[in-house]
Amino acid sequence: MYKSVVIGTGPSGLTAAIYLARANLSPLVIEGPEPGGQLTTTTEVENFPGFPQGIMGPELMLNMRQQAERFGAEFRSSWVVKADLSKHPFTLTLENGTEIVTESLIISTGASARLLGIPGEKENIGRGVSTCATCDGFFFRGKKIIVVGGGDSAMEEAHFLTRFASEVRLVHRRPELRASKIMQDRSRENPKVIWSLNRAPIEVIAGDRGVTGLKVRNNETGEEEILETDGVFVAIGHNPNTSFLDGQITTDEQGYIVVDPGTTRTNIVGVFACGDVQDHQYRQAITAAGSGCMAALDCEKYLEGKMVYDWSQSL
Ligand code: NAP
Repeated sequence: MYKSVVIGTGPSGLTAAIYLARANLSPLVIEGPEPGGQLTTTTEVENFPGFPQGIMGPELMLNMRQQAERFGAEFRSSWVVKADLSKHPFTLTLENGTEIVTESLIISTGASARLLGIPGEKENIGRGVSTCATCDGFFFRGKKIIVVGGGDSAMEEAHFLTRFASEVRLVHRRPELRASKIMQDRSRENPKVIWSLNRAPIEVIAGDRGVTGLKVRNNETGEEEILETDGVFVAIGHNPNTSFLDGQITTDEQGYIVVDPGTTRTNIVGVFACGDVQDHQYRQAITAAGSGCMAALDCEKYLEGKMVYDWSQSL
């Protein structure tokens, strides 16, 4: 029986682990398929306070992990396939069938990039299809790139990719963009960005040497065409990783965990959520780390018996 278990090892989960470990609560930290979270797929992080020259994402995450280990956090790699939160203590089932019992739980499973779900997409990830401009942009020096999406992420990725590409084509399924005006303006003013609006992607075309094109349907005329490209960057948002919870925790309509405002408390007493799994607004490493600290402090209070609450009625 553990006093506390943290699921997820991005900035929020590792910060929670550091605080719990320093409070002598010997947390078990379960890391899933993307150890270190989204920061391990980025290159330089320039906006995390304390690193005036910037720091590489993977190095930052390794540092956080070592810091948690130094104070006694225990790590285990596995998927959590099931969580029984219907009674205290809670039971988690790992993919090999191992059951873990814990008095409290911090969920920091983050959010994963959404895919289009079209033929040729999944099988060409790493061969020209990417969901991370900062990770893969470098490989497209002097090449043609397509960015799919009409939100702020797509604008940001397109703008960033013009550092490397000879041209960046923004493909969006509607004539209007969802992105904020300032982000739209930035892309529109960039001479390397060209536009294919009102086009729905229907297939990624690839040969032996990777991606060569994106087949799209013109939503106005119904006509199909192949847009030539060397790479397709999919920037259509993220999905919070909550499926293992099987509906036991209250989420919003997009699947993000709902927490009691100003805290990390979920609708289940003793279960806390932090990081991108409960935040689709800020989504920064530093805000995730901050909420990880809050989750550990909330959890500590709960374990000391000082937190008496039941706000589930209000959900
Ligand atoms: P988003 O705002 O949800 O936009 C997703 C875009 O992808 C939409 O334009 C959507 O089209 C399109 N899309 C979704 N599913 C699709 C599909 N199956 N096929 C084709 N297109 C599809 O997501 P986001 O851009 O990642 O932004 C998420 C949040 O983070 C927003 O609040 C955003 O403001 C914020 N953010 C801010 C910044 C910044 O300020 N620097 C940067 C990135 C993100 P429709 O428009 O037709 O639905």
